[in-house]
Amino acid sequence: MLDQELLNYISVQDADVFPDEPMSQHTSFRIGGAADCFCEVKNIKALKNIIDACREYNVPWYVIGLGSNLLVSDDGIRGVVIKLGGDFNEIETVGENCIRCGAGVSLAGVCVYARNNSLGGAEFAWGIPGSVGGAVYMNAGAYGGEIKDIVISSRYLDEEGNVCELTGKAQDFSYRHSAYCGRNVVILDAVFELYPKNKNEILFLMQDTMEKRRKKQPLNRPSAGSVFKRPEGYYAAALIEQCGLKGVSVGDAQVSEKHSGFIVNNGKASAKDVKELIEKVRSVVRSKTGVELECEIRFM
Ligand SMILES: Cc1cc2nc3c(=O)[nH]c(=O)nc-3n(C[C@H](O)[C@H](O)[C@H](O)COP(=O)(O)OP(=O)(O)OC[C@H]3O[C@@H](n4cnc5c(N)ncnc54)[C@H](O)[C@@H]3O)c2cc1C
Repeated sequence: MLDQELLNYISVQDADVFPDEPMSQHTSFRIGGAADCFCEVKNIKALKNIIDACREYNVPWYVIGLGSNLLVSDDGIRGVVIKLGGDFNEIETVGENCIRCGAGVSLAGVCVYARNNSLGGAEFAWGIPGSVGGAVYMNAGAYGGEIKDIVISSRYLDEEGNVCELTGKAQDFSYRHSAYCGRNVVILDAVFELYPKNKNEILFLMQDTMEKRRKKQPLNRPSAGSVFKRPEGYYAAALIEQCGLKGVSVGDAQVSEKHSGFIVNNGKASAKDVKELIEKVRSVVRSKTGVELECEIRFM
């Protein structure tokens, strides 16, 4: 339970506030107990105020995007979960071929905006069900493209509440990693540099990417995408399949029959089921192949 005074303060900010909000409604896995307080903030001022208040009351806070890479505990989250809405959902053209996208914008929104403006380069992101904030944080990528290929700068709220900016190499992107990982900061927006391209060519590439996803991924079941990072020199899904783990389940959590790198929720899977299954997969793969699988999904 959150301190009532803190809850009252948060409730008068420019934010939609939901006490005891089930996180299963905010994760693509459809798993997770209640957060003491879930709020969708509309602008930087509200964001700052809420974080400052959490610090003052010594209450932990967390920022999430579209929850497509998260496994939230069945016991929920003690503290405040922040999602970026309102102003953070805006996209604007800034200079030639560049667009500034709020951290709350979905990657689908970025792709559609780019296509409507005949700008190429973002097509790889079509079908990644995350937000700009989550994608920059994770350096999301697919089909030969990564966020790092198109981001020229990103702004964030630092640990002291200052708006700061990182440009180019300072963003320290590598495979599923950015300079933001492990820091208690909020990515506010990012500038993507694209290039002029024929709308039909963009559309064709987007459709082709989605077709590949439909063929290979279990998109009809809740999941958080690939559970494991790609181990150097291997494919996680191939190793898992080779070890006979395809289709193995714990409760309603199952290693997907369609793509062994995914764990799907067949109905009522708990976070505990998913964690147990992850440990089972890691342990069998370790003992049969000597490869240590590292999780790509984030635990909350
Ligand atoms: C069906 C499916 C397919 C997928 N395919 C791919 C794929 O092809 N490639 C790929 O890379 N990923 C893929 N994913 C995983 C996921 O979509 C990406 O990792 C995505 O970038 C996560 O974005 P999100 O907004 O959902 O972030 P969340 O899952 O909400 O959060 C992920 C992390 O980012 C942090 N974060 C989010 N927003 C901010 C912010 N504004 N400031 C600071 N930190 C923030 C969170 O604290 C958390 O640690 C897939 C997932 C699913 C379900």
